[in-house]
Amino acid sequence: MAETAYLIAGCGISGKAAARLAAYLKKIYYLADENDTPELRDFAASLNPAPAGIFFGWKEGMALPCGVETVLSPGIRQGTPFRMALEQCSGKCYGELEFALQHLPCPYVGITGTNGKTTVTELTTALFKAAGKNAEAAGNIGAALSDAVIHARETGLELAVIEISSFQLESMQSFPRPQAAALLNIASDHIDRHATLDEYAAIKCRLLPSVRGRAVMNKNVLGYGERNLPSGTEYVVFTSGKTGGDFTYDGQRYIRYKRKALFDYSRMPLNGVHNCENIQAALALLVEVCGVEVLQNPAIAQVLYEFKPSAHRQEVFLNRDGVIYIDDSKATNPHAVNAALEALPADKGVYLLLGGLDKGMDFTELIPHLGHVRKIYVIGSCADRICSVLNGVTVLERYKRFEDAVFAACDDAEESGGVVILSPACASMDMFRNYQERGERFKTLVYKYVADQLKK
Ligand code: ADP
Repeated sequence: MAETAYLIAGCGISGKAAARLAAYLKKIYYLADENDTPELRDFAASLNPAPAGIFFGWKEGMALPCGVETVLSPGIRQGTPFRMALEQCSGKCYGELEFALQHLPCPYVGITGTNGKTTVTELTTALFKAAGKNAEAAGNIGAALSDAVIHARETGLELAVIEISSFQLESMQSFPRPQAAALLNIASDHIDRHATLDEYAAIKCRLLPSVRGRAVMNKNVLGYGERNLPSGTEYVVFTSGKTGGDFTYDGQRYIRYKRKALFDYSRMPLNGVHNCENIQAALALLVEVCGVEVLQNPAIAQVLYEFKPSAHRQEVFLNRDGVIYIDDSKATNPHAVNAALEALPADKGVYLLLGGLDKGMDFTELIPHLGHVRKIYVIGSCADRICSVLNGVTVLERYKRFEDAVFAACDDAEESGGVVILSPACASMDMFRNYQERGERFKTLVYKYVADQLKK
């Protein structure tokens, strides 16, 4: 059989990583991109062995190599001339994640869901390490999986813990079976891209049928799972309800496995019911791979009692005489904002910075959770839509400039001893490069506000 040749289409971050992996594996590969820049040419020249052909500056009507398998960048949307031309000339089209998984030298665990993927991926990795496995986090988190595959091949990795987004799942055709996989939750997000919530949910479920053991699932997404998975699929269910799951949380203190109290959640730095569910998902994955005895290992409890999520996820970065400042810039959909609002102390007024780039989401989902919100400072390109949906629900103030919104929220919270939280329910790219930049800017402005107050 002739050796498979690959066409790497779209040379962004993931495409470049795929090209590096193809070169590392000494595959026959081509590069294609609609852009043609000196930076892309330099990148192509740095690869060894060199690509078999380069198709930069692609325009309709231009040739592409045929009979190849195409590694598609997530940015090349369905229905565009470039995508159609790629589909025509390729035997198979799939994403960078699938390409990388084909060459992963070790088993993997997959994690997907609308929110909590990064937190659970990091926590699960820490738990596997504590259980003695040489495990690393990869995928949507940090470096592209193709780079992680090179690293895994160089270092003899035992287990990869892979965060998988709906965009990545969407382009998957077939992929190696995960050792274990979890679906954390399903809520409206990226509806601009996925048309309906049901379609989005079906994509999120695509990881689970191939799992070797039982599928790990939040009890409240079981309905989607049962609709989308082959009959007879077995589940490990976790839930924040008291009953009805392998892992449960009694809402007060203990995380239980099969009703047995195991870990005292009140002692952990993570808070909120959603984070308790995250912990349960991570523990369920651990049990699926390592067996239930692992829960007795004291190193596991130690990880849980020390683990903190990454920056910009409900990060309390300042407590000034009881006025609390929280950077939750990673909350890019209403479901994540609701989780943050539910986790806040009930006795404090909340001053919420909301808005950004519109992904077509349903902001009415916020309404039942706005009980303690005294005022919302609305920013960004979807401000009109937010204001029309939340009009009359709570006090809304609209701001053109991010800094004016932040300073106004600080003023109000300092007067009343409340909580200022940036939890925007939207993407950031209308005003910032990414959610990290938005969160950092927020923190800088708060510190500036505080410094100015001290000078007064
Ligand atoms: P993801 O990688 O899926 O975006 P993160 O762990 O980065 O998830 O968290 C993104 C946002 O979602 C943060 O605002 C975080 O506080 C919130 N979040 C984390 N876990 C959950 C959960 N289980 N349910 C709802 N929101 C969550």
